[in-house]
Amino acid sequence: MPELPEVETITQELNRKIKGKIIRSVEVKVPKQINLPILEFSRRTIGKKINSVSRRAKLIIIDLEGPDFLLIHLKLTGQLIYETASDRTGRQNFPAKVGPMPGKFTHIIFNFTDGSRLYFNDIRKFGYIKLIKDEEMIKVGNEFGPEPLSKDFDLPKFKEILARYPNRKIKQILMDQAMIAGIGNIYADESCFYAKILPTRIVKTLTDEEVKNLYYGIRKILLASIEKGGTSADTYVRTDGSDGGFVPFLKVYGREGEKCSGCPGKVNKIKLNGRGTHFCLFCQK
Ligand SMILES: [Zn+2]
Repeated sequence: MPELPEVETITQELNRKIKGKIIRSVEVKVPKQINLPILEFSRRTIGKKINSVSRRAKLIIIDLEGPDFLLIHLKLTGQLIYETASDRTGRQNFPAKVGPMPGKFTHIIFNFTDGSRLYFNDIRKFGYIKLIKDEEMIKVGNEFGPEPLSKDFDLPKFKEILARYPNRKIKQILMDQAMIAGIGNIYADESCFYAKILPTRIVKTLTDEEVKNLYYGIRKILLASIEKGGTSADTYVRTDGSDGGFVPFLKVYGREGEKCSGCPGKVNKIKLNGRGTHFCLFCQK
């Protein structure tokens, strides 16, 4: 599932590519992936200019001219692919993972007045595109904890968050969107490895040093991944269909059975609250 670095990559790319463009038409092939009847959804988006594209937690927020916002959640397998008119006439091929657009899993298409397009692909169909008004937008922002790369998220703030649930497992807190926004399975496991703590550790047993290492690990790893365009371990791709470059830098996620990068041991995988959890029993305590 795309997490903060992947959604941030897409957001930055879309902000460069579609900001200022005007929506000419919308095609909705899977109506359950939008929140309104198709007619109303179309009526409120067609003719509207894109003011900006931003991110909150794992949500992509497209600010349209007027009071409406498009709120996009990619969930497990959502992709957003952008194509210019000349890409299409030049028969530019997207990487094999994406194939020709629109594809079998393209469920929503935004056509812009300059002939370019934004495709929403989603194999599992859990993702959504919601059209909401500005007053609902404020509520959406309040559902999440602080952005881990923002100034609000300093070490005292992290300690305060951890102190709320001293008996929970650390991974559970890291992934709880109401506590900290945008961290999922990949970056929770990687941050725990960085801090040399097991994802199953009970929060109140963490030493000050471990909490500090975890805090800096979270920020360092998220930034490093954004720098590489995110982690394409599953179906995540950038807006041109290419893979993010962070997979070679993962230490434990998706590496079960492989030799640990920090010791001669092997990376383990267990299920924790239904999620695959990766760690090294020797490097992490
Ligand atoms: Zn190890």
